[in-house]
Amino acid sequence: NMQASRPAIRTTCPYCGTGCGVLATPDRAGGMAIAGDPDHPANFGRLCVKGSALGETVGLKGRLLTPRIHGRNASWDQALDLVARRFSETIAEHGPDSVGFYVSGQLLTEDYYAANKLMKGFIGSANIDTNSRLCMASSVAGHRRAFGTDTVPGLYEDLEEADLVVLVGSNLAWCHPVLYQRLAAARQARGTRVVVVDPRRTASCDIADLHLALSPGSDAALFNLLLSEIIRKTDCSTDNIEGFEDAVQAAQQVNPAATGLPHSDLQQFLNMWLQTTKTVTIYSQGINQSDSGTDKVNAIINCHLATGRIGRPGMGPFSVTGQPNAMGGREVGGLANMLACHLDIENPAHRDAVQGFWASPRMADRPGLKAVEMFRAVEDRRIKALWIICTNPAVSMPEADRVARAIAGCDFVVVSDMIAQTDTTRLAHVLLPATGWGEKDGTVTNSERRISRQRRVLAPAGQARDDWRIIADVAARMGWAEAFAWDSPAQVFAEHAALSGVAGALGSDFDISDLAGISDGEYDRLEPFLWPQSPRKRGGRFFGDGRFHTPSGKARMIAVTPRTPPPVSREYPFRLNTGRVRDHWHTMTRTGLSPRLSRHLAEPYLELHPKDAARLGLQPASLAQVSSPHGRAILRVLVTDRVAPGHPFAPMHWTSETAPSGRIDTLVAGLTDPVSGQPALKSGVVAIRPF
Ligand code: SF4
Repeated sequence: NMQASRPAIRTTCPYCGTGCGVLATPDRAGGMAIAGDPDHPANFGRLCVKGSALGETVGLKGRLLTPRIHGRNASWDQALDLVARRFSETIAEHGPDSVGFYVSGQLLTEDYYAANKLMKGFIGSANIDTNSRLCMASSVAGHRRAFGTDTVPGLYEDLEEADLVVLVGSNLAWCHPVLYQRLAAARQARGTRVVVVDPRRTASCDIADLHLALSPGSDAALFNLLLSEIIRKTDCSTDNIEGFEDAVQAAQQVNPAATGLPHSDLQQFLNMWLQTTKTVTIYSQGINQSDSGTDKVNAIINCHLATGRIGRPGMGPFSVTGQPNAMGGREVGGLANMLACHLDIENPAHRDAVQGFWASPRMADRPGLKAVEMFRAVEDRRIKALWIICTNPAVSMPEADRVARAIAGCDFVVVSDMIAQTDTTRLAHVLLPATGWGEKDGTVTNSERRISRQRRVLAPAGQARDDWRIIADVAARMGWAEAFAWDSPAQVFAEHAALSGVAGALGSDFDISDLAGISDGEYDRLEPFLWPQSPRKRGGRFFGDGRFHTPSGKARMIAVTPRTPPPVSREYPFRLNTGRVRDHWHTMTRTGLSPRLSRHLAEPYLELHPKDAARLGLQPASLAQVSSPHGRAILRVLVTDRVAPGHPFAPMHWTSETAPSGRIDTLVAGLTDPVSGQPALKSGVVAIRPF
């Protein structure tokens, strides 16, 4: 049996920013056996239930197998010709800013690189944004304000070296399960103390020494109180910090009552933090997905800067990204306000350097439209041609119904996807079948800056092609064949690595230029590695030496005045909290294929406190209608005191395909953070009544 004796292929799980290594062994039936890779430094052999079910989600079911134009099968040439012609015509008639790409943190770095190069360097607009805007844009903005660049200071092993780990706005147990397992094991082995800061009592509280069920949105107030306490009780060294006085002054304005926490809990937290040097603060969407997310990020970072607890073993603020390759997207500059390799789109010298490297005819000279703005521009017809790649915005954007209507009204919509029927593919004029996980080759970067290979295990389904190749094929038809003449993802990676050397010479922290000459064979064998990976500095932590990437070399503390979310009203008296479930990923197009994964929580639901349920006359398992100014959902009621009165919770995964009335992001307003443009997807104001 030749196939059974084939060695397992080392690849990476696509379901979260932990970036676990996977051993995939193809079988004769077109499937594969899955195991954790014991040699991968993210997981050392562990997998969570989503990763271990990967083999159940491959196959042809639901796949888009051929290009389609207006719902009819077409050849690749017909589809690519049409896409290139319509984009070229639109640009010629209305200018480069009349088109947009909306891409994804699930793209591989090579795909992302190709899309960013085409839009910024050749079309000449920065109207490329990504669903990573919904995930961690506030973290990027917070890092850039504090450190001068988007750099994650720490490593996963810091979780194991810390004496105190604070999870804030992160249900690590369900959203990054293997990191949670690593933390739980460290706690078992060495007594690490864990604090969970979350309005809801999540599964992560199972290992918490303290759960702070703070008022929704009061995280910045909490960390300002902590900063005040740090100043009061410790001697801060401010030699390598700017903005210290202003940040402290702002912090001292906060009233402890803003957090809604009992005095004793609050004091216990402050004491634990002050008394424990080795402290890591993990944060995720509960911080980022807010209309003041960037300030919340900086309120956290301020406390680590003031105590020097950053970039040293067991210490630091740590943003864990939701998507498998949110970090790769940041590295290639696949967001509307970034350039490439952590260079600055608003810096003329940086733009010139990238344009010179690409030998491109033009270069976007200002930030483009961020996700929410981009779909507003689609709505009012400023964007006339839109290419959506590897994502499902008709479900996942805030005010999702409005976004779906905007896409439906757009003159020309192209969607590249591996799945035939989604809320978004339904709105496309042209559908392009893309390869999916298990079929494509490339790299991803996890939350600790570790670059790993995703490797091809199976042949592409039907006529599916890799995204980088589809983008290059369109670019060639738009007249730029030479600049996109790659034959393999290894060549794209090598170009990206070479560009990072140009960026490194301009002071960028992202420099992997010693891989610029990588061959196809070396790329095939590439082991997971941490960047930076330049001759100057190799993998490891940043900022432990007290030097930052700002012009002065000092870190910046930011004065944060906490903002509370928009108030509830008589008409909409509940504050809805949204999030993930343990076993599904995003809009379930893949995880929904595994019956095992759907057994945990089989349908959309609303967690409601017993007092709210009694007041509304809602029984357990009855149906509730949840409405907001933007939309409506019908959800099964789950009565539980895990949530506080007035603060129900609903998960965000279900779609028109899987539960026609269960789309949660229809309920959420398109409010955005003024610095990062990240939407406040975490919460919305709603009314609830029996259905
Ligand atoms: Fe995949 Fe994340 Fe689970 Fe690891 S923790 S197996 S990357 S979903």
